[in-house]
Amino acid sequence: MTSVRPHDKAKALKPSSRRPAKELCSECGLCDTYYIHYVKEACAFLNQQIAELEEQIHGRSRNLDNPDDWYFGVSQEMMAARKIEPIEGAQWTGIVSTIAIEMLNRGMVEGVVCVQNTKEDRFQPMPIIARTPEEILAARVNKPTLSPNLSVLEQIEQSGMKRLLVIGVGCQIQALRAVEKELGLEKLYVLGTPCVDNVNRAGLQKFLETTSRSPDTVVHYEFMQDFRVHFKHEDGSMEMVPFFGLKTNQLKDVFAPSCMSCFDYVNSLADLVVGYMGAPFGWQWIVVRNDTGKEMLDLVQDQIDTQPVMSHGNRKEAVQQSIPAYDKGVTLPMWAAKLMGVVIEKIGPKGLEYARFSIDSHFTRNYLYVKRNHPEKLEAHVPEYAKRIVGQYKLPES
Ligand code: FAD
Repeated sequence: MTSVRPHDKAKALKPSSRRPAKELCSECGLCDTYYIHYVKEACAFLNQQIAELEEQIHGRSRNLDNPDDWYFGVSQEMMAARKIEPIEGAQWTGIVSTIAIEMLNRGMVEGVVCVQNTKEDRFQPMPIIARTPEEILAARVNKPTLSPNLSVLEQIEQSGMKRLLVIGVGCQIQALRAVEKELGLEKLYVLGTPCVDNVNRAGLQKFLETTSRSPDTVVHYEFMQDFRVHFKHEDGSMEMVPFFGLKTNQLKDVFAPSCMSCFDYVNSLADLVVGYMGAPFGWQWIVVRNDTGKEMLDLVQDQIDTQPVMSHGNRKEAVQQSIPAYDKGVTLPMWAAKLMGVVIEKIGPKGLEYARFSIDSHFTRNYLYVKRNHPEKLEAHVPEYAKRIVGQYKLPES
């Protein structure tokens, strides 16, 4: 006789219903399934529990005496890497897609949760459970929009799968880890990417229209380590816009409130994280968090070049100056923005120091956002490591 599980009687919310996290909902997809039963504990915005989950998954939480742990989370190893033969059309060199394909081909997993786009819209996310390498490849490249990756969780149980890889960003992974034991899996692998400043589909349109010369032909974009946004267009041409020239006054409301309240930029609860911001330009940045992550990375060692991570420069003054500038929505004229970009690229922070620059800038901004908009949540929602990062800077009083 099969027993009745607590979530058996729960029902997914209708797409139009208000979510439990209200405006802070990041649309991770949990509430689109009967696992909504666990939302109060699982939702990253209702119950921040990174330290507890780190302990469960990695065997320890961040060491608060070690500033590298504040920034990058629990790790065994970090490196810069790139595929020897990059995957055409991937966000970077396609390390994420390659690991997923290897895991499927070697029978380590029966399926991979990833996100393709709809036929009509290259940026409209469509989460799937991929069962073939072709389906994984079709999910390559970022969908720079909130994506309900966990909406496929019910299908996992129905399919009877026992070994699964999930690819996702921090808010999705925190909810996933919180319900992991309820999924009936023998083994769950988690391949994460860092994530910041995400938007809903309408917000993305506004961002593209305010920032790019040709919003309709953008195929992908990235906020790069050279302090410029790189847009790639359909015809293969590149467009670079300096960060300091972004129309921050118009873009202030573009980012999702969940992303303005997020302190899990580096995906603390994934087994393996693949991003770019701690690596030299053109390389990807890899953080191995635990033995499972190491096992996953080992599968592609013969397909990647690697080099040790490096760190140059000092970010602190640039971060401190950016706090009031962002607050006041200062936008430089384009010539000044370009000049500033050139100077800062020459003398600015590089490698891990660039990653710290980006984390500091976003955490100070987000801390102020939560303090001003959800003061009652500030204490419990901001993890201790993030309080230490923010505590290095002088913030406006109100
Ligand atoms: P690919 O092989 O192209 O595969 C990309 C994978 O990402 C696919 O499997 C797909 O399923 C998954 N994916 C795409 N969109 C989403 C989404 N919206 N939600 C969940 N999963 C998705 N890295 C940094 O170092 N710093 C950053 O600031 C940063 N910001 C990011 C912001 C967003 C919104 C996203 C989605 C990623 C961000 N990354 C960031 C990660 C980085 O851009 C690359 O995704 C990563 O380096 C992997 O590149 P790749 O070529 O190996 O991936």
